[in-house]
Amino acid sequence: MSKIKKVVARQVYDSRGNPTIEAEVFSNNLSASAICPSGASTGTFEAYEKRDKSNKKYLGKSVLIPVATVNKLISKKLKNQNIHDQERIDSILIKLDGTKQKTKLGANTILAVSMAVKKLSAKVKKIPLYKNFIVKKNFKLPFPLMNIINGGAHADNGLRIQEFMIRPDKAKSFNDAVRMCFLVINNLKVLLKKSGHSINVGDEGGFAPMISDNESALKLIVQAIKKSGFKNGKDISICLDVAANELIKKGKYSIHSKNYISVNQSIKKYLQLIKKYQIKSIEDPFGEDDWKAWSKFVNETKNKTQIIGDDLFVTNLERLKIGFLNLSANSILIKLNQIGTVTETLEVIKFSQLIGFKTIISHRSGDTEDTFIADLAVGTNSNQIKTGSLARSERIAKYNQLIRIEENLGRLAKMNKID
Ligand code: PEP
Ligand code: MG
Repeated sequence: MSKIKKVVARQVYDSRGNPTIEAEVFSNNLSASAICPSGASTGTFEAYEKRDKSNKKYLGKSVLIPVATVNKLISKKLKNQNIHDQERIDSILIKLDGTKQKTKLGANTILAVSMAVKKLSAKVKKIPLYKNFIVKKNFKLPFPLMNIINGGAHADNGLRIQEFMIRPDKAKSFNDAVRMCFLVINNLKVLLKKSGHSINVGDEGGFAPMISDNESALKLIVQAIKKSGFKNGKDISICLDVAANELIKKGKYSIHSKNYISVNQSIKKYLQLIKKYQIKSIEDPFGEDDWKAWSKFVNETKNKTQIIGDDLFVTNLERLKIGFLNLSANSILIKLNQIGTVTETLEVIKFSQLIGFKTIISHRSGDTEDTFIADLAVGTNSNQIKTGSLARSERIAKYNQLIRIEENLGRLAKMNKID
């Protein structure tokens, strides 16, 4: 048995330059570290991200209290625990916190430790991290949901929809998937330049041109797909994350323009967009409490469109069960820091797959060089991964890790099935 010797934490920085926590777990002569990411368009029901609100030196954003919690409390509590017993370690962390949304210690504090434990366990076993999750053989590579235009809370261009993404449905390998996206992104760059738009990028590496109308963005993407020699809706599909939590007022939504319209009118507009632009996937089309609107939408799309719950489910088993019973979605976005431990995340993934929901592993808009989610996607045979564009190293790091995993699997490497 390999026992934990100590856990050390430190404050590092994320891709937005905000402080975040890194934990390093030690056992024998080995150690492994993990860094917690941070969201911008967060759901109300997410586990709590603890920051030192009263520390003015860091504008209230530092995580020195979480760091001290690891160094002074968690390290002692985890000392001598078996590094391979992730469930026991996570249950100690959960009990130590004792609150529903991990408000006492902070989900960021707990998750950094939980991920580092998983990494160290793989290191001690001398196996790649992706082999240390659920799947033991027949590993599948996920399809990338590559973000190519940023809007909403991730850019300041006024675009209503937060993320415009492409998914290379006909890719034969992960390498090929990245190549297909590379072509579309480069052609989009040319088109943007030609039409006088900026090619600056937003938080997730997608372009953030000063376009405020959804359809203009969609038209540009369709053109870029064509220019790359692909068929929209066949070779490459357009996928959206609306992040509608940010666009709701008194039960009405301002998704399609600045005007607030009813759920029924919003659904009608969505259906038109789906048809016109061959949209295959929509994340968070409605607010986190609007279960009825979600169910109605799934029903209206005849369950043919991938409808993903992010802020709706917040990687939480209880909320997923409500969504399943109400047929509110057919897929779930998985973000480790929405729930706070690796064990709970794996439970949600297992349940999702049991009920036939697609699992899409996701980065956060404030992310880091940590590539844990790339391994998690393969180690759980998750259908897709959403980790930004081919820009910004914190996004590319995940794609590069998936390329390495594909190489490591060699002839055994297979892409997941899209439908
Ligand atoms: C998202 O909404 O899916 C997302 C990745 O953004 P954030 O991390 O800001 O929640
Ligand atoms: Mg989202």
